[in-house]
Amino acid sequence: MNCRAAGVAAAPATVAGLAADSMFAQQAPVKRDFEAEIRAALQSAKNAAGFEFFGTLARICLLPQSGRAGTPDNVPPYVANPASAPPRDYWYAEPARVFDNLYFVGGKIHSAWALTTSEGIILIDTIYTYNSEELIIGGMQKVGLDPKIIKYVLISHAHGDHIGGAEMLQNRYGVRVVMGGADWDLVEKYPNRYKTMSPKRDIVATDGMKITLGDTTVTIWLTPGHTPGTLSYTFSVLDRGKPFNVAYSGGTAFNFANSTPDPGIKNFQTYIDSQRHIAARAASAGATVLLSNHSEFDNAVNKNRMLAGRGNGPHPYELGADLVQRYFQVMQGCARAAQLRLEQQLAESAAR
Ligand SMILES: [Zn+2]
Repeated sequence: MNCRAAGVAAAPATVAGLAADSMFAQQAPVKRDFEAEIRAALQSAKNAAGFEFFGTLARICLLPQSGRAGTPDNVPPYVANPASAPPRDYWYAEPARVFDNLYFVGGKIHSAWALTTSEGIILIDTIYTYNSEELIIGGMQKVGLDPKIIKYVLISHAHGDHIGGAEMLQNRYGVRVVMGGADWDLVEKYPNRYKTMSPKRDIVATDGMKITLGDTTVTIWLTPGHTPGTLSYTFSVLDRGKPFNVAYSGGTAFNFANSTPDPGIKNFQTYIDSQRHIAARAASAGATVLLSNHSEFDNAVNKNRMLAGRGNGPHPYELGADLVQRYFQVMQGCARAAQLRLEQQLAESAAR
């Protein structure tokens, strides 16, 4: 609690209001205490994160910020020269059956998920060009799934760590590929950047779109921010026959123009509005499970290991509705703190 709040609380509200009014009349304009506002936003993110979402907090509140993706259209080094891709030890993780109908087929850092249905498989994200073959195709075979029955591939956003296997899967199995419209545009605009990972334009996601395969539906929510076409999802899974609702967060770091007030303030607002949107959809879906496409955000790889020792205990991914909401509060608090720094910059340059 700060002193001002305590003082206001101690005095009758009307008296405090009058005193403040007459004080402000003499001293206007009032200078905003940006440092205090930034500290409050960071503290709200830290409180929301607790131990559960420390990775997300670290990445977007504490570590140096990501910046915007550049505009050059260059072939990524690991595509131009596959020998330069990170070694297998760096990214390999074992596949895992996480729920009755949801399998982890990702790596140590980036996730991909296979959602099984009565009519085939919905695959969520496709990792890199250099490891999608082993992690997704190989991983599915290892857990007894047939990659030939993948029917839909949902791409959370068009970055190389999530779209890498989409072209291969479209060519090999004729899967339907779903992506946000603005991210389809990126793929078409940068043919070199997306070399060997540019599926042909297929399904353009819209807000509230339902992808239904047999007995299973994934609902898509547009959450622009990380990229202009970033997608998040809600869907249901079964744990030993019992249904649970999942909120899937599709883009996290501040990979947009964010170093100057214009357009940074607006971009952070887009990001914050998107987190409010998916948080509200998660709440109305009754989501108690939070999934991401990076293990640093949802602890997928650690949790997969915990599953082995679960016995009759709770499912390690089952967090409860409150913690799922707190995930999105971490994202909002960190984004608000960064947005406030830009508002401070703008106020200081206007005062000069
Ligand atoms: Zn990304």
